[in-house]
Amino acid sequence: MPTGTGKSLCYQLPSLLLDHPLIVICPLISLMLDQCYQARKHGVRAVTIHSGMRIAEQEEAYRLLYSDQCDLFFMSPERIQSEVFIDTLRQCQISGIVIDEAHCISQWGYDFRPSYLQIKNLIEALPSIPVLALTATATVGTCEDIMTVLGVQDMQLIRKDRRRDNLHLNIQRVDDKNQFIIDHIDRESSSIIYVRSRKHVELLCQYLNRKKIIAIPYHAGLHKGEREKNQALWFSDHAQCIVATNAFGMGVNKNNVRQIFHYGIPPTIEEYMQEIGRAGRDGEVAHCYLLYNQKDISISRFKERNMIDWGRFIAGISKKYQDVRKQEKLLSLKEKLGIKTDDIKKSEVLNQISFRGLKPIFDSIQQPKMQNFTTMIGFISTVTCRYEFLSQYFDRHHAVICQSCDNCKREETKVLQPLSKDHIIQLVSVNATIKLTDVIRLFSSYKKSDILSVISELYEEEQIRVTDDFISRTDPS
Ligand SMILES: [Zn+2]
Repeated sequence: MPTGTGKSLCYQLPSLLLDHPLIVICPLISLMLDQCYQARKHGVRAVTIHSGMRIAEQEEAYRLLYSDQCDLFFMSPERIQSEVFIDTLRQCQISGIVIDEAHCISQWGYDFRPSYLQIKNLIEALPSIPVLALTATATVGTCEDIMTVLGVQDMQLIRKDRRRDNLHLNIQRVDDKNQFIIDHIDRESSSIIYVRSRKHVELLCQYLNRKKIIAIPYHAGLHKGEREKNQALWFSDHAQCIVATNAFGMGVNKNNVRQIFHYGIPPTIEEYMQEIGRAGRDGEVAHCYLLYNQKDISISRFKERNMIDWGRFIAGISKKYQDVRKQEKLLSLKEKLGIKTDDIKKSEVLNQISFRGLKPIFDSIQQPKMQNFTTMIGFISTVTCRYEFLSQYFDRHHAVICQSCDNCKREETKVLQPLSKDHIIQLVSVNATIKLTDVIRLFSSYKKSDILSVISELYEEEQIRVTDDFISRTDPS
């Protein structure tokens, strides 16, 4: 179910009707506290247990659970690691297990949490108890994975339409994003601007403040107290606009957010969906703008921006090669290049790596990022319905034509530009391959024969290479 369409209601309401408590597994303390607060407001006897509580408070929470005196019991998946806890639960009367943000279970979910794998043990320990898993951002593949990991055979899959009519999607290529925001921001209402780096958060805030817009920053680099203060200012409408990195948002439940701006391309469709889902929760119209420029869609820029996570890279190498000498070679390469920190720009080491035969491993680590990027490029460059694209991405089916995305709104006046070589070249690069079927899918508004003829032209001109079902750029050198 998309964000803001009533996932919490799916367990809050039953908890009032059932005889015994529901266990709710939640990934974040802040989310737990918010859900607990919301449930209590509606007369639900909700209890939380988390590591920030004093021992006596934790004991009291357990007492309420064991003595059947609560309706909802919120906890983190880490608590299931205690066998004593699971044993005690066996003695209690429990009406069901709820798994919130269930995509965390899946290795295909964008914020995979290994402790979520333990939930299977809990389910096995309480075999006759019903299980409800909820998520806003799972593809069909992720859902299948969740069911496998939970080990529940007869799970019924219910998917809600991804489209929220009141969320108007607008994707714009603009050279001056700051000016666009000034021209389009509603100074009377609440908005969120998502920016990809902490530095940009600060710069944009300063700019907006100079333009008399009360904007406050939110990112992981701020002290906890400052983050909480800024969030409170925004919640109470003392600040119209919060400029934030993706650190902001999980569990944010504010009714009157009228505008979401993406100051650049989000790394994944899942993240984009989560972030726009925070607008228009009162059901009134809200506008979601994704702004990008030429630099944002450049693949070489993308590579420069994307740093290697050395920890993961080395771990990948170790898995592939048990050979200690090869690992040592790599570490010495790191030293040779004078890499001080754990992160390094991909482009700086790519050549070194390729002649050492390590490129396939490197690619296997970087490829998912690149794949997400090409999907995002597909999303912003699609000329058909944006919601249809999202629906196909998540559910593998087409939605009906909407009236709430920019493409549908200008459907009648729109003239489809002929497919050019640049369209294809934009998608492929020297170091990344893309599946032919993906290219055809991304340009689904064009005839397959037209796409193939542009590809074959590029191939004739030796601008691209075609290997099996994949295409890639030929090396200009
Ligand atoms: Zn549409």
